[in-house]
Amino acid sequence: MKNLPLYVKIIIGLVVGIIWSFISSSLGLNWLTRDWISPFGDIFIRMLKFIAVPLVLFSIISGVSGLKDVGRLGRIGGRTLGIYLITTVTAVVVGLLFGNIVQPGKFMDEEQRVKNRISYEQWATENNVAILDGKSYLNDPQYSHLLSDADRASMATDMDKKVEGKMESLKSRKDEGPLRFLVDMVPSNIVISISDNRLMLQVIFFAIFFGICLVMIPENTAKPVINFFEGLNQVFLKMVDLVMQAAPFFVFALMAGVITKMAETPAEVAELFISLGSYSLTVFVALVLMIFGFYPVIIKLLGIAKYTEFLRKISPAQFLAFSTSSSAATLPVTMECVEERVGVSKNVSSFVLPIGATVNMDGTSLYQTIAVLFLAQIHMVELDFVQQLTIILTATLASIGSAAVPSAGVIMLMVVLSSVGLNPAWIAIILPVDRILDMCRTVVNVTGDATVCTVIAKGEGELNPVED
Ligand code: ASP
Repeated sequence: MKNLPLYVKIIIGLVVGIIWSFISSSLGLNWLTRDWISPFGDIFIRMLKFIAVPLVLFSIISGVSGLKDVGRLGRIGGRTLGIYLITTVTAVVVGLLFGNIVQPGKFMDEEQRVKNRISYEQWATENNVAILDGKSYLNDPQYSHLLSDADRASMATDMDKKVEGKMESLKSRKDEGPLRFLVDMVPSNIVISISDNRLMLQVIFFAIFFGICLVMIPENTAKPVINFFEGLNQVFLKMVDLVMQAAPFFVFALMAGVITKMAETPAEVAELFISLGSYSLTVFVALVLMIFGFYPVIIKLLGIAKYTEFLRKISPAQFLAFSTSSSAATLPVTMECVEERVGVSKNVSSFVLPIGATVNMDGTSLYQTIAVLFLAQIHMVELDFVQQLTIILTATLASIGSAAVPSAGVIMLMVVLSSVGLNPAWIAIILPVDRILDMCRTVVNVTGDATVCTVIAKGEGELNPVED
């Protein structure tokens, strides 16, 4: 056991955690998991979170100041954003293809879909939203017998309460102008930004600015400051190292806790998957395609490494992404894997990965696309070509705007739904399976970041493959 590679130990922790959650719920031992095992999962996430922000700060400062040349930084920055955009749009297109070809929403019972459609038309009329496909089931005598129970039977209305909180957090963003995202990137008080994980972009902005200024002042003045930050960076990397030694146990605790919280009995877990099975499966297969189809092609085309080898090297980060559902919490480990195991230089990884964790979410954009199509399909709403183009734009922006924390993607999904005239409250329908899909899409988000980072390093001559 002692000699097993870390990723194998993490897989064991993960599988044992899942098995334990089923055993404990069938033996009525959920209290044991909740009170005595799950807290260790929370401790693990807390540790990763408190490491993430200082690590981003110190590693960007030492990475940028190590570049010596501000022009080069601009070039790497431009490329990074360009390639991140390409991978995100590709993910959305893959989502559109899957959603349109498989049509997961059409597996639902026809009568339920008509009732959903009628309740959608009622909602659209009440809220002055144009029904874009121009059809009216509400006034069609053929469906009049369904009218009275459409409201009651609509899948969304009885769940509206669940999304109220999420709606509120989104409403506050509504009146903001188009340049709001730029304003939001600039901190007004760096101490506040450091203290809030959701303000990571502000920390990145500050760190890059600080690093650039460090390059611009006389070398003998800058040297001790650079050494100081390099030292701090090493300390935080050591912390990641130590926490990761215990990761298999922490992952066990995390999985046992998450699954137990998701459903109290094994029958409930099974029920969840059956009712939203076609949707979950479509998202899952599309995500798998990204990991085993899209990224391998990039890695292979550029002659970087054997893909299986690349996957093995970043697998601790992937398993962690799966168990924490947070790209931000996983970031310290992603950095360690990409630097120490893949061989990307710190200069590149310390800059490209933190940006990726916050803005590049291929898994999230793909999932948002399939979710919109699925929700439209179960409400019998046909989305035309222009609306599908709108989805490409809004899902790309929504994934960029999603924070790298659990469930951020489902909140931003409301933006995508509204952009094509659909009811944002429909997210309630897919909430029951959201956590498990969040775990899967976060793996893709992290894999995308690691792939792009390696590609940039290769282009910059900053990749020194590590033999194991
Ligand atoms: N949990 C995802 C991440 O951290 C974001 C999301 O899609 O909810 O990457």
